[in-house]
Amino acid sequence: MEIPSQVQVKHNFSAGPSILPGEVFAKASQAVKDFDGSGLSILEISHRSSAWTEVMEEAESLVRELLSVGDDFAVLFLTGGASTQFFMTAMNLLDSERSAGYVDTGTWSAKAIKEAQAFGQLLELASSKSDGYRYIPKDFDIPNDLNYVHITSNNTVYGTQYHKLPSTEVPLVLDASSDIFGRSIPWERIQAVYAGAQKNMGPAGVTLVIIRKSALGKVHRHIPTMLDYRTHIPKGSMFNTPPVFPIYVSMLNMRWLKKQGGVTEMSHRNAAKAKLLYEEIDRNALFRGTVDPQDRSTMNANFLLTKSELESDFLALCDQMGIVGIKGHRSVGGFRASMYNAMDIASVQVLVDAMRYLEDHKG
Ligand SMILES: *Cc1c(COP(=O)(O)O)cnc(C)c1O
Repeated sequence: MEIPSQVQVKHNFSAGPSILPGEVFAKASQAVKDFDGSGLSILEISHRSSAWTEVMEEAESLVRELLSVGDDFAVLFLTGGASTQFFMTAMNLLDSERSAGYVDTGTWSAKAIKEAQAFGQLLELASSKSDGYRYIPKDFDIPNDLNYVHITSNNTVYGTQYHKLPSTEVPLVLDASSDIFGRSIPWERIQAVYAGAQKNMGPAGVTLVIIRKSALGKVHRHIPTMLDYRTHIPKGSMFNTPPVFPIYVSMLNMRWLKKQGGVTEMSHRNAAKAKLLYEEIDRNALFRGTVDPQDRSTMNANFLLTKSELESDFLALCDQMGIVGIKGHRSVGGFRASMYNAMDIASVQVLVDAMRYLEDHKG
């Protein structure tokens, strides 16, 4: 197969750590050398300096503005990744004699269930595991006396996404690691939202937690200081040294998001990118999507080659065209194209061109 000539531009479809806008990288690297003309690097300024507290305040106010978060919620920047929130949410919100409902839609929700089990009774409300996590379960019963219902709003590994949240009176806890800032959040239904930064918000090392303040202080167990949300709220996420660089870069990325038109604009762009790619997956006989169309994620598109013997050809072609990071998760195989907020539709078009090229030459 003749492949198009080598290009320099990279199109990064990696699932995480993932793409950020070029102007964010430019500003962040400048700040490593000299932060806002201070003569000091962002990596060495005191986290108690006013220059830093302004960054913290701007980061929090951008989260509030972009996602329309009200005063009844605290906005926190914590460490430990989304993986720490799997147990920290339960530790802070669930008493040992009460129950919480969990929906199992893949790798990350299964891990959340495993970690939360130690803190109360968990009711697995539904699971799509026996069908290879191909869809989001719907129309399952949710008892009204549950403490909360935990869902993974976008399943990064399997490429499914809740386009409609489960209907229930019970407040929701959302793991929104891979679709934060890509959709609006109905706060009246929410107890907590958490997201590891490294998919849609910034670099790895900080986790965004947005928690309803009135939900705290209701459990009877001892909570270690660092794991108690109430430690971090009055301290503005600076009880201890915060991860300054990941927060700074996240703040820059949120400024970019705001300039682009915020979450509404992102949701439109993400829908357009997803439509472009899924239409090609459905049209091109060499490719096949792996999840039920109505539950397809706008963030992570999973697909297979119908002629698996073409895999090395396709990967070589992608490599030549600057397409990076489309190999599927090691637990699922196939391909996964992650199209997070910062990805331009032009990059998705390059992937579609590669798929057409393969069809023209090998189909
Ligand atoms: C990546 C991911 C996680 C794990 O995040 P860490 O910050 O690495 O702990 C959890 N949930 C979802 C949905 C993810 O995509």
